[in-house]
Amino acid sequence: MDEVLLKQALEFGQPYAQKGKVASYIPELGKVDGQELGICVKTIAGETLHSGFWKQRFTIQSISKVINLVVALEYQGFEAVFRRTKMEPTGSSFNAMSHLSDSEAIPFNPFVNAGAIAIVGLLVPLGLEQMLSAVQGLCSDKYITINEDVFQSEWANCARNRSLVYLLQSKGLITEAVDDTLRLYTQLCSLNVTAESLSNLGRLLANDGIQPETGNRILKEEVVRTTLTMMLTCGMYNGSGEFAVRVGLPSKSGVGGGILSVVPGEMGIGVYGPSLDSKGNSMAGQRVLEYISRTEKLHILDRYAR
Ligand code: GLN
Repeated sequence: MDEVLLKQALEFGQPYAQKGKVASYIPELGKVDGQELGICVKTIAGETLHSGFWKQRFTIQSISKVINLVVALEYQGFEAVFRRTKMEPTGSSFNAMSHLSDSEAIPFNPFVNAGAIAIVGLLVPLGLEQMLSAVQGLCSDKYITINEDVFQSEWANCARNRSLVYLLQSKGLITEAVDDTLRLYTQLCSLNVTAESLSNLGRLLANDGIQPETGNRILKEEVVRTTLTMMLTCGMYNGSGEFAVRVGLPSKSGVGGGILSVVPGEMGIGVYGPSLDSKGNSMAGQRVLEYISRTEKLHILDRYAR
C-alpha cells in the first residue's frame, strides 16, 4: 500500500459524497462540508500514509462506542457488560427502541444507542476526565477535546436518547443517574478526532492491544477480540452485513462522518467523509474502504484463504 493508492481510493469515493447528506438531526453537524474526504493509515511496522482531509477535526460520534466498550470490558469485565446488552446484529436503525418494548428485552449490542448508553452507565464512576484521558491514550492524540458546540447542539436535541435512558432505567439496565449517564454518553460522542486519531486506535486493535512503539500492553487480548468481533458484525448498524461482504474488515462508523477500520495484524485505518447514507454511515468513506480492501485483498476471508 502507498499514498498513490490512497489518492486513487479517494478519487473513486469522492463522487459518492454527492449522493449522501450530512447529519442534520444534530443541527451543528449540519454545518460541515459534505464534500470533505480524507484517510490516514498507520501500520504496525511504523508507517504513516495519508491523503485528503486527514487532519480535519470532526466529532467521533458513535465510534466512541468502541472506546466505551473496551474501557467497560477492562474496568468492569465481560459479565457486567453483557448483562446489559446482547451480542447480536440488528436489522434496525442505530437509535431504534421498538425492540426494547418487551419487558424481558435488552439492547441488541453495544453499538446501538441503547446498548452503548447502558454501557456508559458502567463508566459513570470514572467520569469525563478519566474517560477523556483514556480516549487520548487509546488514540495517541492528546489534542482530543470536547466540541462544545456539537455537545450543546445534541444535548438540546436528545429527546430520543433520553427516552432510551428512561426505558433502560425502567428495566434495571442502568442503575446510575439518568442525567449523568446521558451527559457522559453525549460528551463522549462530541469528542473532536481526526482520521489520524482513528488510525492510531485501529492500529492498537490491529496489534492485539499492544502499543507498537513501546511494546506496552494497553488492552487485554480477549477485550480486543470481543471488540473486533462486535465491530465486524454490528459496527455499521443495519448496513453491517453488506459492508462485511464488500469490505470485510472490523469497522465502526459515526454520524460525524468517521469510519474506523482494522486490518488485524497489519494496520489501522481512519476515514473521514461527513456525507452519510440513510443508515448514518459515511457514503464516500465506505466506497474508499471498499476500493482499498478490493485492491489490496484485505477482506479478512481473502487473507484467511491465503
Ligand atoms: N451521538 C449520536 C446519537 O446518539 C451518535 C449516533 C451515531 O453516530 N450513529 O444519536
